[in-house]
Amino acid sequence: MAEVTGNSALAKRFDEYLTQHRMRHTPERAAVLQRVLSTSRPFNIESLRAMLEADSYYVSRATLYNTIELLIDAGIVRRLKLDGNHASYEKVVSNIRIRLMCDECGKVKETRDPNFIAFINTRKFTAFNATGFDLYVTGTCSTCARKLKRMKRLKRDNK
Ligand SMILES: [Zn+2]
Repeated sequence: MAEVTGNSALAKRFDEYLTQHRMRHTPERAAVLQRVLSTSRPFNIESLRAMLEADSYYVSRATLYNTIELLIDAGIVRRLKLDGNHASYEKVVSNIRIRLMCDECGKVKETRDPNFIAFINTRKFTAFNATGFDLYVTGTCSTCARKLKRMKRLKRDNK
């Protein structure tokens, strides 16, 4: 899928992710993020480390692995299965949105699913250049589910 999610949007996403998970915004995490965003090719821990060292930035392997895991969880990086023992990664660059829509109250909540996004990224469409993907998942939100349950119980008790 075409590159439509800009680096600033991805940087903002990581910022929000760290805040949401009450994690610190460390200089190391910022440096790794910037390096990952600036490359459009797949990379592995060693090549990422070399790129950082070229900028005179030294980050331990443990910190690198740790930060990559966070970037994967935040939907910014995905793992590629290229060569058995050495994991490769690449930046996620697509405009894919997954939204949960409640049939009862109409509330819409955006959600992230890195596995689903990775799958959609592998799809190709005949005679069509995809630039985005929108998925609406319909159902009942937890608030409405509770309400419905309560109403059902009331009906039953009044019989
Ligand atoms: Zn609802």
